[in-house]
Amino acid sequence: MRCGSVAGIATVLALVAWCGVRSLEAGTPLVAQGRSEYRIVVPKDAIPAERLAGTELQAFLKQVSGAELTIVDDSGPVPERAILLGKNAYLPQAKAEIDFAKLGQEGFTLRVVGPHLVIAGGRPRGTLYGVYAFLEERLGCRWFSSKVSRVPKQADITLGELNDTQVPVLEYREPFWWDAFDADWAARNKANSANARLDEARGGKITYTGFVHTFNSLVPPDKYFGEHPEYFSLINGKRMKGYYQLCLTNPDVLRIATEAVKELLRKNPQTSIVSVSQNDTGGWCQCENCKKIEAEEGGAHAGPIIRFVNGVAEAIEKEFPNVAVDTLAYQYSRAPVTKTRPRRNVIVRLCSIECCFAHPLEEEDTSFKRDIVGWSKMCDRLYVWDYVTTFGHYVLPFSNIEVLQPNVQFFVKHGVKGIFEEGAYQSPGAEMAELKAYLLAKILWNPNCDVERHRREFLEGFYGKAGETIDRYLRMVRNYAIEKKIHEQIWIGPTSGHVPPEVVEKADTIFDEAEKAVADDADTLHRVQVARLPIQYVQLSRLIAQKPAGGLEPGSPNARLVERFFAVCAKEKITHLNEGGLRPEAFRQQVMAAFAPKPAKGAKP
Ligand SMILES: [Zn+2]
Ligand SMILES: [Zn+2]
Repeated sequence: MRCGSVAGIATVLALVAWCGVRSLEAGTPLVAQGRSEYRIVVPKDAIPAERLAGTELQAFLKQVSGAELTIVDDSGPVPERAILLGKNAYLPQAKAEIDFAKLGQEGFTLRVVGPHLVIAGGRPRGTLYGVYAFLEERLGCRWFSSKVSRVPKQADITLGELNDTQVPVLEYREPFWWDAFDADWAARNKANSANARLDEARGGKITYTGFVHTFNSLVPPDKYFGEHPEYFSLINGKRMKGYYQLCLTNPDVLRIATEAVKELLRKNPQTSIVSVSQNDTGGWCQCENCKKIEAEEGGAHAGPIIRFVNGVAEAIEKEFPNVAVDTLAYQYSRAPVTKTRPRRNVIVRLCSIECCFAHPLEEEDTSFKRDIVGWSKMCDRLYVWDYVTTFGHYVLPFSNIEVLQPNVQFFVKHGVKGIFEEGAYQSPGAEMAELKAYLLAKILWNPNCDVERHRREFLEGFYGKAGETIDRYLRMVRNYAIEKKIHEQIWIGPTSGHVPPEVVEKADTIFDEAEKAVADDADTLHRVQVARLPIQYVQLSRLIAQKPAGGLEPGSPNARLVERFFAVCAKEKITHLNEGGLRPEAFRQQVMAAFAPKPAKGAKP
């Protein structure tokens, strides 16, 4: 077991101290009384992410202990006591053999060898991730959100024994939430998210070109339909112009799409993955050739897609050997092919959009389960596009926290190599957004992590004295859904029955308690009030449905509810209450309209 892989901050620190008792080298501590004899050694030929690893380690060690370690390179004599970062020239002298090939691009080894601490990872991200893992697991640092971190103070740091190698099982890990796009947060929590603002200094990321739904941009109907309607879907005997799909068995369509992909890749040389994927609609081609291939592939609409994408992938492979072509298994194309294997440079992204997220995927009897089994047999690089919020109402209780880990474990069990977790991405303030993003980052890095510990630490760190109370609220709402066997899909709403009036009433009392607990701390109080918005959203949605008579009495409970909800929305800078773009101001108008006096009888409209 690693020091620090158990229980809360206090225990982590206790374990660090305990490890120190068995320090290898005459008890020389890394830091004693805020002073250190250690040097941070960065390789002379370090890449930007390894330089950042050095400065981040230096900065956080200073915050933790007060000691500022000097950074040197590995061209001079070996310092007596050193923290050796990356593929360091001193590793042989330090007798630290590191199997870099095994570490891949993101894995790392943390090891104490003699008086030295080695933090060595693969390029580009391994060493930086190793530094963050050391700070997190050995020193108790936490980066809960882009704004809330925890850096425990400790004037003495002893190294003790350490030999830990971590290599992620998932090559692509994206918690797709508004706050998770923050570059520091993503790097520190080891998310290589395509959509995060990760730059070269932070080791870059998985870079998609054309993230999804690219058929129309590769073969634009406006450009081609006039002369070549046969490039586009035949539906009920008619070629369709607009937002449908392509006729994927037409060789000219393959040629045009391939050229478009090559053009994109030449313009975007940093690309890891290029998307060749269906538009976000139905409307697949029903021509004889397309139907014939579907029949050969067990009836799967994915048949023509996989053969088409294989064609593109084969054509670009020579010029772009490190690029994969990504396509979707989504809605009409979700059922797997049975004959044609996706090429090794093809990624199939299977989408769980129809599923319930109150219960673990494994526990439900769904066609999705059948499909993931089928795809995992056919496809070497299977990714999942998973859904972790309710898109019709970002600010609504959605009790999926407990399924996050079992679902990722379920995906990994079926050979999935990359996971995109689509949350509320357009605005801050969504229900438990920071908690879910944080847990997802932890789970995606290590699907078997102690998620209860991460949850507890987050709630303590983010909500302070209200942490336990918020936890009680979350479990109360969750327990109701489980007891009543309520399924929660991504389009549920405030009247879907998972937060009935009795649950709202209990939640209201709990939140009064939570707000009281942190009343003297304005920042934490605001976060608790943001956590309360989903319950207030249900209350307001009910008022809209009820259309209470008599207007909104100033000072009444309803008036206070309205005032508080929208004040907190404004302070949190919420722009989207749902994916469709409902702004708080527009929702306010709906609420106020519900209270508007009814027109008198006989009045002209
Ligand atoms: Zn066709
Ligand atoms: Zn369910």
